[in-house]
Amino acid sequence: MRVGAHISSSGGPQNVFGRAGAIGAEAIQLFISAPQQWRPPNLGDEAVAAFHEEHERMPVPVFFHCVYLVNLGTQDGKLLNRSAGSLKQYLKWAGTLGVEGAIFHVGSHKGAGFEAVRDQICRVMLEVLEAADNDSMLLIENNAGQGNGIGSTFTEIGEIIRGCDSHPRIGVCLDTCHAFAMGYDITEREGCEIAMEEFDREIGFERLRAVHANDSKMPLGGVRDRHENIGDGHMGLDGFRTILAHPAFRDAPLLLEVPGIEGDGPDEENVNRLKRIREEVGAPGPDAS
Ligand SMILES: [Zn+2]
Ligand SMILES: [Zn+2]
Repeated sequence: MRVGAHISSSGGPQNVFGRAGAIGAEAIQLFISAPQQWRPPNLGDEAVAAFHEEHERMPVPVFFHCVYLVNLGTQDGKLLNRSAGSLKQYLKWAGTLGVEGAIFHVGSHKGAGFEAVRDQICRVMLEVLEAADNDSMLLIENNAGQGNGIGSTFTEIGEIIRGCDSHPRIGVCLDTCHAFAMGYDITEREGCEIAMEEFDREIGFERLRAVHANDSKMPLGGVRDRHENIGDGHMGLDGFRTILAHPAFRDAPLLLEVPGIEGDGPDEENVNRLKRIREEVGAPGPDAS
C-alpha cells in the first residue's frame, strides 16, 4: 500500500518528484495543464526527457488528473467534443510520459438522467481509448452525488464499464470523501464491507487502480464534495483505520487531495497520518504494491 499525494507541477511536470520526496509521498498525482481551462497540455522534448529522468530516479506510480471542465454527459455538442479532445490529449500524454493512468470526472447529466446519456458516455470513452492507443488507463472517479453528477454509485460506474464492453484499460479511482458524502459509510466496518461488496460485484477489485484518500467536511450522505485533512473531518482517524484495513485497498495507491494543515495542499503531516494508520492496521508497506 502506497501513500501518495496530489503534487503541484508548477514549473514543469518533472518537478513533482522532488516535491513528492520532500513530503514522503510514495505515489503521485499531477495536472499537466491548468485544470480549469481547456488549453491542452504542451510539453516540449526537454520537459519530457526531464520527466523520464526524474521518474527513473524515483520510480513511483504516477497519475494525471484530467481537467475539471470535462463532461461526457452533456447535451451540448461543442462541450462534448472539447471533453473528448481533452481526454484524448491527457491519455496520449499519459502514454508518452509512461504514467499509470488519467483520472477523470464523467460529468453531469444536468437532469436528463443517467440512462439518457449512458450510451454517449461509453461511445466517447471508447473513442478516447482508441485515439490514445497505449498502456495507460482511463480511470473513472466516483462522484459525491451533487448536481446530477454521473458515477456517484459503484453500480452506475459498473454500468458504464460494461457499456464499454469491459474494456481492459478502464479502471476506477475511488475517492473516499466522495463515497462518504454519497452515503457509503465506509468508515464503519459493516458499511465498508457492504460498499466494497457492491464495488466488487459491479466493477471488480482488479479495476480499483487508485484511491483519493480524503476526509470529509460534510457528514455521511451530505452529497457535497468538501475535502478535509485526514482525521479532521467526519470520517476521522478511526474511519481511515477501517478503510485501510479492508483488503480492497491493499494494492491501489492512496493519493491525498486534502487542504493541508497550512492550507497549501497535501503535506507531510497528512502523509504521516496515513502511514501511521497503515502500520496500525498491519497493511503492507509501499513495496508490496
Ligand atoms: Zn478526488
Ligand atoms: Zn472531491
